[in-house]
Amino acid sequence: MTIPLPLATPDLIWQVTRNEHAKPAEEREAILADPGFGNHFTDHMVDLCWSERGGWHRPRVSPYGPIQLDPAAAVLHYAQEVFEGLKAYRHADGGIWTFRPYENAARMQRSAHRMALPELPVEHFIESLKQLIAVDADWVPTAAETSLYLRPFMFAKEAFLGVRPAKKAAYYLIASPAGAYFPGGVQPVNIWLSTEYARAGKGGTGAAKAGGNYASSLLPQAEAYEKGCEQVLFLNEDGYLEELGGMNIVLVKADGTLLTPDSPSILEGVTRESILQLAADRGHAVEQRRITMQEWREGAESGEIVGAFACGTAAVVVPIGRLLAEDFEIRPVGEESERLALSLRDELTGIQYGRIEDRHGWMMRL
Ligand code: PMP
Repeated sequence: MTIPLPLATPDLIWQVTRNEHAKPAEEREAILADPGFGNHFTDHMVDLCWSERGGWHRPRVSPYGPIQLDPAAAVLHYAQEVFEGLKAYRHADGGIWTFRPYENAARMQRSAHRMALPELPVEHFIESLKQLIAVDADWVPTAAETSLYLRPFMFAKEAFLGVRPAKKAAYYLIASPAGAYFPGGVQPVNIWLSTEYARAGKGGTGAAKAGGNYASSLLPQAEAYEKGCEQVLFLNEDGYLEELGGMNIVLVKADGTLLTPDSPSILEGVTRESILQLAADRGHAVEQRRITMQEWREGAESGEIVGAFACGTAAVVVPIGRLLAEDFEIRPVGEESERLALSLRDELTGIQYGRIEDRHGWMMRL
């Protein structure tokens, strides 16, 4: 039997154009002192083009700025778009590292496949991170718990109004300095259970990190704010737990078992997988299976389920203080479970910031 070899991707020559109007150091330092999240962008960006005929080509680093797009570009009409999110961390020796970038590269490929976009070869994804950090290293903040958030994204740019996969696409990478998510110490979040709206359905795009999934979560997210909650929890059509608008969910049982949804329609979080690994290393049992809201309610009442936390790249791990639904409420935070969530958080951030040995080989120097 002959196994077809994957098409070799020719080495691409990167074209680097320095930003002649880069922010002066003083201005940059003022931003880095209090960046918030997603408000400011570095001096450069990366992009690569893709066409059905030419494959991936013209990788470049250029000054950060507006993108020119034909008004008929497919993404503007049919939302053919995917993205990723990961961080660059400054270590004590000044080195800049990122966390499990191959997971993000692979997930972006899975998302792209689902949205009929081309899959960016992993080596181009990794190279794009290195190229951007090479010119924007000064934008990686140094204060505790701060980072440079990296946002790779890809969209259909062919100017054509027919509904079919576009024959031209673009990959971009931009970066935004991020302050400590919880400057005053980690605060539990309250979540609203959305029963009117769903985030995903059977056979849908829930497992893809596609912009459209987030567009559909905004209305229930706004409802959550109205109810005094910061995040929204979605169920699937059969009433099983899925995930939050932008984070995965993990329940904590009294015996220390971690319980988290197994579903084909949620985003497979890199943070969740890593936290579950760290917990398993400590001897905790981990169950990834379908969980009904009923099971959580009954478990909370009987004392079998003592807590819950949310996890994702931006906030890392956050205990859930309260789950609010139309006709009931769960206050899951038991002290034990909150302590567990925070100590797993400390261990993970310890690895990310180079304070704790990286025994799983998760970190990559940029
Ligand atoms: N679910 C959703 C819907 C998300 O947007 C995110 C954030 N990327 C996550 C889960 C957590 O994923 P990760 O740990 O890879 O950031």
